[in-house]
Amino acid sequence: MRTNISLEEALNILLNENSQTEAIHVPLLDSLGSVLAEDITSDINMPPFDKSPLDGYAVCSDDIKTASKKVPVTLKVIDFVPAGHVSSKKIKSGEAMRIMTGAKIPEGADVIIRFEDTEFTEEDVRIYTPLNPNSNICKLGEDMKVGDIVIEKGTVIDSPEIGILASLGKSFVKVYRKPRVAILSTGDELVDIHDVLTDGKIRNSNSYTIAAQIKKIGAKPLMLGICDDGIEDIKEKLKTALSWADMIITTGGVSVGDCDLIKEAFQQLGAEMLFWRVKMKPGTPIAVAKYDNKLIFGLSGNPAAAYITFEQFVRPIVLKKMGKQKYKLMEVESILESEFSKVSSQNRFVRANTYYKDGKYYTKFPSKHSSGVLSSLSGTNSLFYIPSSTGPYKEGQKITVQLLNYSEVLK
Ligand code: AMP
Ligand code: MG
Repeated sequence: MRTNISLEEALNILLNENSQTEAIHVPLLDSLGSVLAEDITSDINMPPFDKSPLDGYAVCSDDIKTASKKVPVTLKVIDFVPAGHVSSKKIKSGEAMRIMTGAKIPEGADVIIRFEDTEFTEEDVRIYTPLNPNSNICKLGEDMKVGDIVIEKGTVIDSPEIGILASLGKSFVKVYRKPRVAILSTGDELVDIHDVLTDGKIRNSNSYTIAAQIKKIGAKPLMLGICDDGIEDIKEKLKTALSWADMIITTGGVSVGDCDLIKEAFQQLGAEMLFWRVKMKPGTPIAVAKYDNKLIFGLSGNPAAAYITFEQFVRPIVLKKMGKQKYKLMEVESILESEFSKVSSQNRFVRANTYYKDGKYYTKFPSKHSSGVLSSLSGTNSLFYIPSSTGPYKEGQKITVQLLNYSEVLK
């Protein structure tokens, strides 16, 4: 079993193992955030007809060539075309039609002149400026043409893509299925969040933090609850989960303590150990195994360690599994507003708060950053990676930070 490996090696092993979920058809709105599994080709022209982009009068450019402030042209208004309606009449020389935004251009007209540039009555309209042919006309197919590939396979579906698919009448969309991720928290000390805290016990927060992390990146968390530090129970729960989950995450019991049985449980199940222990803090004892092409992540039970190792190792794998090509956290250069004086022999991720002001990023560290401290992860929107034996890092120094939550940085 590979052990004590570098961050890069661990990530490479995982990215090489990862397989993509299959494509399924989902209702249009449920496809938001998923990755499109087919090219979308337009089978219509959009707009399907030449249409008016404004409220005004449809006229023939030839009729208004001589129009000027002093000598306006007066045309007879022969019809009114609201959006969604089509005039059965044809504009002949000397005639115009009152037309609303979105309505089909009537036959015989080749320009639209807006209300504001005219004077009108019920019967006629006076025009003061000439317009070139085709002015103010949205042409048939201007947006999309029959046969155009309008969204490529691999695109992450966001609001505009939903709109395009709606325009094409797609009530179902072919996307890669969202992975089902089972979450199991292990430890004799754990009680469920509804239970009373008795001596020596703590509530299981990890399952919830991790479920939220899974949900945030668009996958499906399924909580298996709590397991004691008893190998048979752990194996039983994992075995059941392997029958339906795409991936499993456990927390706790992965270190070198007497009750740390996770690795043993993975092995007894017949899973292949990919690695154990990565050279980083927090979260060193991460163990990852593979069973039937399904990855089983054993994360440290320390809340911050579980959170940070999830972001480094689980997040990219889940994103890649759901077909995303961009799964790295964004990195920016930032100015340090705190100090980090400890020079460590270990690579370390320090939780940080980064904000953006006047074109620059600034980063502060919370005062508490031990791996067992969960509270200061609130407000943490970024991580500062400190390679071993580097530092101290001084106030004012430029550093690189990973952004966990870009929109929170810009707030
Ligand atoms: P372990 O990885 O089992 O050695 O646990 C490390 C620390 O994390 C211990 O202090 C545990 O009590 C704590 N811990 C383990 N599991 C959880 C959990 N699900 N929620 C909150 N804290 C936990
Ligand atoms: Mg434990």
